[in-house]
This record gives sequence, structure tokens and C-alpha cells, in this order.
Amino acid sequence: MAALSILTCSACGRLDAGPRDMCPACAGALTSMPVEGAGTLVSWTVIRRPPKSFREHGAYCIAIVDLDAGVRITGRLRNTPAHAALGERVSLVGCQDRIPVFALDR
Ligand SMILES: [Zn+2]
Repeated sequence: MAALSILTCSACGRLDAGPRDMCPACAGALTSMPVEGAGTLVSWTVIRRPPKSFREHGAYCIAIVDLDAGVRITGRLRNTPAHAALGERVSLVGCQDRIPVFALDR
């Protein structure tokens, strides 16, 4: 399974999807930590009129995922799903434009 990098606070241990310069809870230093890209779909929506910089990709799906590592992250959902259910399992399948891309595990 693909992994992605999240931030962890060296002072309080908080996990954060970032990007950030310092911990929002205690202002401690953040360091990168690799985590597995498995998680649960929290929400998703289809962007049918993409902003100019993403227009060449056509419609795409934005998803909010609770990673099993314990942090919530925003990414894309591969192949615009017609019937993705909230709570479905997803896995990281890569990155596009430095944005994590997930796919349904079904
Ligand atoms: Zn902290």
C-alpha cells in the first residue's frame, strides 16, 4: 500500500495533515512522518467546474478521509464515484499535483 507523509509535533505528539510551520496546539516543531494511506471516507463532492489550474483534468472528486493513523486529510477520489458511501474504506493510490489520490477499496 502506498504511504504518505504527515506531520507530527515533537512536543505534544499531535498529528497534522499540514502543510504548517508549527504545531497549532502548542507551537512546537513539526517533523514529517510516513503513514499508511488507508482510511475511511468522511465526505466527498464532485468538482464539475474546476479552477483554471485544474481545468485540463475535467471534473474530479474531492474527498475528506480519516486515515487509520489518526489524522483527517483532504485529497482526491480516483474515478468520480456514482455511489460512494460515507464510511467506505479507501486507500491511497498515488499523488496528482502533489495532492493525495484515494480509491475505494471495493
Ligand atoms: Zn504540539
